[in-house]
Amino acid sequence: MKLQDKVCIVTGAASGIGREIAMTYARQGGKLAIADLNKAAAQVVADEINRAGGQAMAVAMDVTSEEQVDAAVAEVAAAWGGVDVLVSNAGIQIVHPVEDFPFADWKKMLAIHLDGAFLTTKACVPHMKASGKGGSIIYMGSVHSKEASVLKSAYVTAKHGLMGLCKTVSKEGGKFGIRANVICPGFVRTPLVEKQIPEQSKALGISEDDVIKKVMLKDTVDGEFTTVQDVAEVALLFASFGSNALTGQSLVVSHGWFMQ
Ligand code: NAD
Repeated sequence: MKLQDKVCIVTGAASGIGREIAMTYARQGGKLAIADLNKAAAQVVADEINRAGGQAMAVAMDVTSEEQVDAAVAEVAAAWGGVDVLVSNAGIQIVHPVEDFPFADWKKMLAIHLDGAFLTTKACVPHMKASGKGGSIIYMGSVHSKEASVLKSAYVTAKHGLMGLCKTVSKEGGKFGIRANVICPGFVRTPLVEKQIPEQSKALGISEDDVIKKVMLKDTVDGEFTTVQDVAEVALLFASFGSNALTGQSLVVSHGWFMQ
């Protein structure tokens, strides 16, 4: 049990990667706050964890709203006495060529990915300091924290931005035992990616099969998608690591797409 009784907040945990991280943490003894815009879907995940003998609660949270983030974090801390792990994972994708990118969509992307990471960090850090035990903050980056792809100006900008936030939080948090790290997955077949396949097929004028083979998995070593379980294993490592030796870092989990 690597996370026995650790209070873990995972944003965007009603679906995809966040859901799998929550399930993995719960199996390791963590108390899970399933935070999502979609409270009903978050409740389904929390119920599943509780039925399996774990401990979970669902909280409604739009990560772009300071009020909602603060209220949800306060609710979790009041219920369980603190916050030990934050996984800032909620995210969406919007693709357009830069000259056609609606400004409103650009702002929405930066709000969810960057404001969301900032606001959840800001709300959780005081609890990690107050406990005297520190904590672990994990940002869901992407290979797009390191690399660019066409049509993804907002996503690439936001995911690169998380690297700066992570490094700063790890420096500020060091003396309090608060660690911050970024996970950088390659393509994972979640609803976020399923939606992109037809969109990119249309935008690039190629078949959906070619989007998968010639765009998404082109630079992997074996033509394979990364899985939600692969990403959850890395999230477990970052959450359960025992010292400040592992902080301010980013780890690419991508079947070899982008090598440092
Ligand atoms: P997903 O669509 O399966 O899940 C995203 C979740 O975030 C949903 O439950 C959604 O309701 C929630 N969400 C969206 N906006 C929100 C908001 N404003 N406040 C709170 N919750 C909100 O997507 P996923 O693929 O699991 O993506 C999770 C994270 O992983 C994202 O940050 C994404 O950029 C990142 N990522 C995904 C991939 C991939 O290939 N799927 C690769 C690299 C990084």
